[in-house]
Amino acid sequence: MLETSSFEFDAGSLDRLVNPKETELDTTDDIDLTLRPKTLSEYIGQDKVKENMSVFIEAAKKRDEPLDHVLLYGPPGLGKTTLSCIIAHEMGVNIRITSGPAIEKAGDLAALLTNLNQNDVLFIDEIHRLNRQVEEIMYPALEDYALDIIVGKGPAARSIRLDLPKFTLIGATTRAGQLSAPLRDRFGVIMRLELYSFEQLTDIVLRSSVILRIPCDKKGAFEIAKRSRGTPRIANRLLKRVRDFAEVLGSGKVSEDIAKIALDRLEIDSLGLDGMDKRFLEMIIKGYGGGPVGLETLASAIGEESITLEDVCEPYLMQLGFISRTPRGRCVTALAYNHLGITAPANVNPAQISLL
Ligand code: ADP
Repeated sequence: MLETSSFEFDAGSLDRLVNPKETELDTTDDIDLTLRPKTLSEYIGQDKVKENMSVFIEAAKKRDEPLDHVLLYGPPGLGKTTLSCIIAHEMGVNIRITSGPAIEKAGDLAALLTNLNQNDVLFIDEIHRLNRQVEEIMYPALEDYALDIIVGKGPAARSIRLDLPKFTLIGATTRAGQLSAPLRDRFGVIMRLELYSFEQLTDIVLRSSVILRIPCDKKGAFEIAKRSRGTPRIANRLLKRVRDFAEVLGSGKVSEDIAKIALDRLEIDSLGLDGMDKRFLEMIIKGYGGGPVGLETLASAIGEESITLEDVCEPYLMQLGFISRTPRGRCVTALAYNHLGITAPANVNPAQISLL
């Protein structure tokens, strides 16, 4: 028997289950590491990126040179870190993982770079958040594998050039537009990761269920995939939560029925929207006649940071064709009105569902 009584879940905070950014929900155990694919063939989807990347890797290996510097961009949780580890693994080299805000001073960067071995990969997440001073000493490191360091102070100060091992920088960012042009130009390979289709996410859920030994059928996996906002990190997180419901309320198997019950109770709707998305859409509809309305205005009206709305809500709502961006602000489309069960005014943009 399946029980369906309601319980409280705060879907509005950043710890919401459909937050694509890494949260405590992902890092409290080693499961995240186990679930990360280790080779390009295990990495599901992103076919164009994979095909090109495997050519670049093979060519670099043949020449016994490091891979050209790579910039990966796209919304959080799509597999940028995972892909970087795979690249290092396929190249047969080590990877050092850090993030833009963690490199505070030029000295931090110098310490990282001088500790690399020949052809190693340095992965910098959130590379758009590197500070200017660090960014500037990065340029000769990327171009000539050298660091220009100032030694001493005042009139006695002089610059010395330190040779570095040849290495590959892989930068990841959710906002390629915020990268300065000189930094962006130093990447030989720039690739965008796309949100995943329902079918690809179904394969990811099935793969994870095998690794985690969770009995799960294809329909159960598809139900989770549909509500995962095109994002593998969310799919894996939802699988773990649905498993809890399956174990407590059902036979332990993740089926379509149990997935529906679990996700409804977690207040994640049939397309993966939660309270924050709904507040976002309803505010545009009820507060601003369907738009256009500026992002900052919206953010303060619903009490969220504009960055959160831009990085977390908007990419998926745009993918669904629920909102459009115009020079005058955000507008809600007829599809969103239909999904929320609100009658759309006659002049509303009838956008089509894209990609998914
Ligand atoms: P990002 O760095 O873009 O925020 P991650 O690389 O940390 O994303 O990926 C989040 C999680 O999603 C990983 O732990 C991994 O298990 C899973 N994942 C990401 N991409 C894929 C993929 N293509 N195939 C299978 N699992 C994936």
